[in-house]
Amino acid sequence: MNPFFPPSWLGILGGGQLGRYFSQAAQDLGYPVCVLDPDEDSPAGKIAQKFIRADYLNEVGLAEFAKTCVAASTEFENVPAKVLDWLIEQNVYVAPISQPVSIAQNRTAEKAFLSNCANKTGIQTAPYCLITRPEDCKSIATEMFPAILKTTRLGYDGKGQKTVKGSQELENAWVELGQVECILEKKLNLAFEVSAIVARAFDNEVAIFPIAQNEHRNGILHLSIVPAPSLTEEQKNEILEATKIIIRELDYVGVLCVEYFVLGDGTLIVNEIAPRPHNSGHHTLDSCFTSQFEQQVRTLARLPLGKTDLIQPVVMLNLLGDIWFDKNNQMIQPAWDKVLSIPSAKLHLYGKTEPKLARKMGHINFLADNIESAKSDAILAMEILGIPIE
Ligand code: ADP
Ligand code: MG
Repeated sequence: MNPFFPPSWLGILGGGQLGRYFSQAAQDLGYPVCVLDPDEDSPAGKIAQKFIRADYLNEVGLAEFAKTCVAASTEFENVPAKVLDWLIEQNVYVAPISQPVSIAQNRTAEKAFLSNCANKTGIQTAPYCLITRPEDCKSIATEMFPAILKTTRLGYDGKGQKTVKGSQELENAWVELGQVECILEKKLNLAFEVSAIVARAFDNEVAIFPIAQNEHRNGILHLSIVPAPSLTEEQKNEILEATKIIIRELDYVGVLCVEYFVLGDGTLIVNEIAPRPHNSGHHTLDSCFTSQFEQQVRTLARLPLGKTDLIQPVVMLNLLGDIWFDKNNQMIQPAWDKVLSIPSAKLHLYGKTEPKLARKMGHINFLADNIESAKSDAILAMEILGIPIE
């Protein structure tokens, strides 16, 4: 398989911030980029050489996309799998392909796949069961509670999830979630959470980024710290090996994120996979030799993978739309000048025109000689921006 060189066009389905960074990375390597996204205010659409504003199932838009690009990837997790298959029929090189993407799009298939991998990785999923009928809510063993009910499809940033303490709450929660197919997962006592981002090339070469330790608030990523300060060397090696096994077992070409939980007694649990670059890998834009987005471009263009070494310890702070609003809910402009007076801060804003509560608007990477110092700079920025410290 030959590589694609510029001026061949690369395409990206989905035009959010992930698509924007994909586009920038492709453009840095000399490729023109075509973005397809339904949203007029698409962060990637604004910078791409060509922006097709269309729904993912719009035939006219897709035909134009297929005519433009020699190769295409996705940034939006829920691009219908059949769209990827259709692009392949049009002779567009697609990575990742629909089969692994559809596993990641369905929590039931995803958990089954990850449990299956446990034979090889030695890392289990949380105990879980399927909820598809009202009677499923009644027959749950008491040791499963407290538990988290998660919709099988379309959940992200903690959406489509409810914590339940017993059967009655479960029944109510399932009704609230619209009685769609769900999985019920035992709620574990997490000591901390980590993620590993890995890339695999068409020739089976694999490269993995340093593991990030992640703190969430209200189900949304708040901070990523790299290298992960709480992991033992042994846990780190186990996760790196498991992640490489998972990407190979999936026969996946592209960039993949695998999320893990670490329990109080040190047990590792594999949580979920994301078939694309991940928010917890945004630090790589400034901290690593190759960013996760350049790696995505390389996998798509059938180029060798870039080296993933961490150049400096880093803390990434997510910026949500909340900081554009004061206590009286009046719109304000965050004090970027003050933030940028912190020497370790690399500010990234995604160019979204409408700040909304909980909407991801940007992030800041703090690069320092050690994570303590990066973290104290992150806290300083949180004070400046009015983000609660705890
Ligand atoms: P999403 O697709 O929204 O990221 P996740 O399954 O990753 O869904 O859940 C979001 C967050 O909820 C996790 O990062 C973790 O903090 C918490 N969580 C999810 N599952 C469990 C569990 N089984 N036990 C404890 N906490 C969990
Ligand atoms: Mg998650």
